[in-house]
Amino acid sequence: SQEKKRKKEGPSKLTFEQIGGQDSAKQELREALDFMVRHEEIQKFGIRPLKGILLTGPPGTGKTLMAKAAAHYTKSVFIAASGSEFVEMYVGVGAGRIRDLFKDARTRAIKEKKENAIIFIDEIDVIGGKREGGQQREYDQTLNQLLTEMDGIYSSDAPRILVIAATNRKEMLDSALLRPGRFDRHIEVDLPDKKGRKHILELHAKNKPLHAEVVLDKIADESYGFSGAQLESVMNEGAIYAMRENMNLIEQRHLSMAIDKVMLGEKTDRESND
Ligand code: ATP
Repeated sequence: SQEKKRKKEGPSKLTFEQIGGQDSAKQELREALDFMVRHEEIQKFGIRPLKGILLTGPPGTGKTLMAKAAAHYTKSVFIAASGSEFVEMYVGVGAGRIRDLFKDARTRAIKEKKENAIIFIDEIDVIGGKREGGQQREYDQTLNQLLTEMDGIYSSDAPRILVIAATNRKEMLDSALLRPGRFDRHIEVDLPDKKGRKHILELHAKNKPLHAEVVLDKIADESYGFSGAQLESVMNEGAIYAMRENMNLIEQRHLSMAIDKVMLGEKTDRESND
């Protein structure tokens, strides 16, 4: 079942060092997390605990990686879910799953003797989207349950829960989600700039035999507008081209070919969607 699948995930081993580029997003997130773990002082000063962080930005830029790194950084239990898991035909099923998600997080944190749990909800817009015509949907059960669970998070009782949500459609979100005490901290995870692209390429080249003459800086130049996920594909496709030619090493041209392939792939995807 859903719960079993999650149990298999285990602790997050992913660190911020394994995320390429995104310097300011990583910095902002780390600052928020540093604040979150100072719960004794937070209580002393009567500060509202940080309950929700919203990661926004295009697909494949590393939002999931950020949430996993956050769990590793704070030694938290990590539980991931996607907004689409909560969409059900029958009223109340989605709300029940939200309740289970939070229960699961608490149970696991206690069992694994962790003080914190991070719940990651990808595609939050699926459950927290605005109603047509700006109609409020406070009464929507699934969203309501999420808000109720978040309102019930206090810094005094361990395990403490932090919800990290991701969306690439921030403007679609219902304002009830963005209110203070809910997802009130927003971090932009944008497409990487050239330096970021090079860093991401380097990270994904680590386990690959690159020819000594390969200049990743050039590949970073040629891959303008690519996301981290697309850059990962470039390294992977480049390796496949080299292997097909029975080469021992990946050469520059293999990676240039891979860029074209990834770019073309994206284009045909888009065309077939139209
Ligand atoms: P989506 O919005 O589609 O869920 P996302 O922003 O959550 O995407 P991830 O799932 O974190 O993106 O990234 C997908 C894959 O792309 C990662 O597993 C990784 O291989 C690669 N990737 C993306 N961004 C980065 C990055 N900044 N550094 C290194 N690898 C990255």
